[in-house]
Amino acid sequence: MSKPLDFVTNELNEARAKNLFRPLKIVSGMQGARTVIDGREVINLSSNNYLGLTKHPKVIEAALKAVREIGAGAGAVRTIIGTLELHDRLEKKIAQWKNVEAALVFQSGFCANQGTIVALVGRDDLIYSDQLSHASIIDGCRLSRAKIEVYEHSNVDSLRELCQRHHDRDCKKLLVTDSVFSMDGDIAPLPAIAEIAAEYGLITFVDDAHASGVLGEAGRGSVDHFGLHGKIDMVMGTLSKAIGVMGGYIVGSRDLIDYLIMRSRPMLFSTATPPAVPAATIAAIEVMETEPQHQQRLWSNVEFFRGELRTLGFDCGNPETPITPVIVGDESLANTFSDELYAQGVFAQGIIFPTVPRGTGRVRTIMTSMHSREDLEQALETFAKVGKQLSII
Ligand code: PMP
Repeated sequence: MSKPLDFVTNELNEARAKNLFRPLKIVSGMQGARTVIDGREVINLSSNNYLGLTKHPKVIEAALKAVREIGAGAGAVRTIIGTLELHDRLEKKIAQWKNVEAALVFQSGFCANQGTIVALVGRDDLIYSDQLSHASIIDGCRLSRAKIEVYEHSNVDSLRELCQRHHDRDCKKLLVTDSVFSMDGDIAPLPAIAEIAAEYGLITFVDDAHASGVLGEAGRGSVDHFGLHGKIDMVMGTLSKAIGVMGGYIVGSRDLIDYLIMRSRPMLFSTATPPAVPAATIAAIEVMETEPQHQQRLWSNVEFFRGELRTLGFDCGNPETPITPVIVGDESLANTFSDELYAQGVFAQGIIFPTVPRGTGRVRTIMTSMHSREDLEQALETFAKVGKQLSII
C-alpha cells in the first residue's frame, strides 16, 4: 500500500536519476581561496566571502571578545530584551557607513526582505517586481497578498507599461528589485527605475545583497555606485556575503525603521542574532572603511578572470560584478561540468532550475579578493581542459 510521503522518495529518485539532485557539500576549515570541500582541497569559486572578511583577524577577534564578555546567545527577540548594546552600535554604524538616517538589523537577509515587504503592503496593494528578483523577495511578495506585477528583467519599458496600466489605482505601490542579480552578476538600471518610481509615486526597495561591500566607495552599495543618495526609499543588504558574518539590514528614514520595529514579523517573533554577530559585523565594516585594498584586489581579479574566461570561448552572459556565470544551457550538463571541475580541483557550483530559468543551466563563479594570480591561472587551465572535454568550448 502506498504511504502519504511516498511522493518524496519518488521525486527524489527521479531527480537523482537525472543528475539533478545535489547533495550538500561539507566544508572543513576556513572559507578561503582554497578550501577543503568534501575532504578535498580545491580552488573555491563559489564563496560570497568577496573580501575575505570571514577570516580577517580583526573580525574574528571582535567575535571572540563578544562571546567571552556577553555570551553565546541574545536570549530574546529584538522587541522584548534581545536588542543588545552591540545591535544598537551596529545599527548606528551601518547608518553612518551608508549615509542614511537609520538602520535595522535582521537575523538574515532573507528575513529582512520578507519581513519588510510583508510589513509595508497588503491585500489591496500593488507590487512591481523584476522577473529575476531573489526568492526572499518573491516569498515576501506572495506572503503580503498584494497583487504582484512582474516586469521583464531590468526592462524599464516593461516596468513603465505596468505603471501606466495601474496608474489610476489608489493603493500603495511598491517597486522591488535586486541591485545585483545573484545568478547573472548584472546590475539593475537603478537611475531609470528611480525616475519612473518618482513619476508614478512608487515606494522603492532595493536588495543590495551582492552590492554591499562590493559596489560604491568603501562598499557602500548600489545607491553610492549610481550616486542615487536620497532617491531610493529603502535598501536591504546582507551582512553574510562581503561583510563576512551573518544577518541582513534595512536602511531608510527613522520613521520607516521605527515602523518596521513595530510591524516586521522577524523582529517580533524570532530571536536576535547572538553577540558575536553584531560585534564581528561592526569590525568588518570598519575594515572596509580603512582597508580599501580588499576591494581593489577583488576588482582586479574580476577583470582578469572574466577576460580570460571569455578569451577561452565560454558564454559568460553580461555580468558587471564579481559574479560570472558560465552558461551551458542543459541542466544535466551544468551539473556534470561542475562535478568534473571539482574532480580536477576547482569548485564552482552548478546552478539549475528553479534557481535559474529552465535551459539556462550554468556553473556560477564568484571572484574574491583572496584569490592569488596563481589560483586564477590554475582555475582557468582547469576550465579550459574540462570545457573541451565536455565540448562546451
Ligand atoms: N537577496 C539576495 C539577492 C541574495 O542573493 C540572498 C542570499 N542568497 C539574500 C537576499 C538572502 O540573504 P541571506 O543569505 O543573508 O539570508
